[in-house]
Amino acid sequence: MSKKAEIVAMTESELNQEALIRAGEILKNGGLVAFPTETVYGLGGDALNPESSMKIYAAKGRPSDNPLIVHIARMEDLKKIVKNIPAKAMVLAEKYWPGPLTMIFEKSEIVPMETTGGLNSVAVRYPSDRIAQELILAGGGYVAAPSANTSGRPSPTTAAHVEEDLGSTIDMIIDGGSVGIGLESTIVDFTEEVPLVLRPGYISLEMLQETLGEVRMDRGLLITDEKTRPKAPGMKYRHYAPKADLTIIEGDEECVVKEINKRAEQNARDGKKTGIIATSETASLYHCDSIKVIGSRMEEETIAKHLYEVLRSFDDEDVDVIYSEAFYTPQMGQAIMNRLLKAAGHHIIQV
Ligand code: AMP
Ligand code: MG
Repeated sequence: MSKKAEIVAMTESELNQEALIRAGEILKNGGLVAFPTETVYGLGGDALNPESSMKIYAAKGRPSDNPLIVHIARMEDLKKIVKNIPAKAMVLAEKYWPGPLTMIFEKSEIVPMETTGGLNSVAVRYPSDRIAQELILAGGGYVAAPSANTSGRPSPTTAAHVEEDLGSTIDMIIDGGSVGIGLESTIVDFTEEVPLVLRPGYISLEMLQETLGEVRMDRGLLITDEKTRPKAPGMKYRHYAPKADLTIIEGDEECVVKEINKRAEQNARDGKKTGIIATSETASLYHCDSIKVIGSRMEEETIAKHLYEVLRSFDDEDVDVIYSEAFYTPQMGQAIMNRLLKAAGHHIIQV
C-alpha cells in the first residue's frame, strides 16, 4: 500500500464543509481519515464496519487485541452501541461530554468484535472538537479512532506528526492545527461495580471522585510487577517511546539539575550525546547538547501539550541518552507521569 494521503486544512471556526462531506464518504466506504480532537489526533474508520477496524490495526501496526474507542457526536447515539448505561455514567456524561472522557460499557450486538479487540465491552467518547464532531456525523455517527500514530511512537499532536507516521497508508488527513490538551482521554470503566480509571488524562481521579464519590484507579497502572497487568489492553504495551534511552530523574530541583549535568558530562566523555527535557524555569541551568523546554511548571497544561512533540523531536536528532525531570503537577500530573514513565520503560532514579 503506497498512496499519498490528501491533506485538508480547516479550523473549528472555519470548517470546510465540502471536505468534511468527502471525508464522511471515505469513512462510509471503508476508508481511513485522520482528524484533530481536543486530546490528540485520531485515526478514524467506520466503527460498525469490521473491515475498517482491521484496516486501522494494519495502518498503525497495532496488535488487534487492543480495542478501539468509538467516537460519537450526539448524546442520543450512545444507546445504540451499549447495553446498559449506569446512572453514574450519565452524571459524568452530563458534566464532561463533549470532552476528554472515555467511558466503557457493555457493548450491543451491532458493535463488531473487531472494533473491541474481541471484548464484550466498548469504549465510547464524545469529543468536543467541532471538526471531529462534524466528521463523525458525516461518517455515519460512529467512528472508531485510536491515536493516529504508528503503534509504539508518541501520539500525534499535529497533522505533521500524522503525516510522518501514516502519510502513505491512509486516505485523508484533516489538519486542524495543534491540539489543545495533548494527552489521550481519561478512561473510566463502568462495567465494574465501582467505576475504575483505566487511563489517567486531563480529567483527574480527584475530579471524578468529586462528581461520583467512590472511583478507583486500576492497580495495574500503579504497580508494575509481572502479575499486576493494567485492565486496558493498550496500557500494557511499551509506548510513546523515543528511540534514545530515556531516564527520569526525580527529586528537588537543585539535586535533579546537578545529577543530570553530572551524567551529561560523563556521557560527553564517553562520546555520547545527551538530550534533556527541562522546563522554562530550569532550562538555563543545564549544560548539554540538546535542551528542550517542555513548558512551565506554573502552567501544567503547557507540559501536557508539548510532551509528545518533545519526545518525537529527539528522534530527529542523534542523541543517545535523554534525561527528563519528573512532573507531578496538581491536575494532570498522574497522566503526564503515566505517559512519561511508559516512554522511559519505568526507568526512574530518585536523587
Ligand atoms: P487509543 O485508541 O490509542 O487512545 O487507545 C485506547 C485505549 O483504550 C487502549 O489502551 C485500549 O486498550 C483501551 N480500551 C478501549 N476499549 C476498551 C475496552 N472495551 N476495555 C478496556 N480497555 C479498552
Ligand atoms: Mg494510542
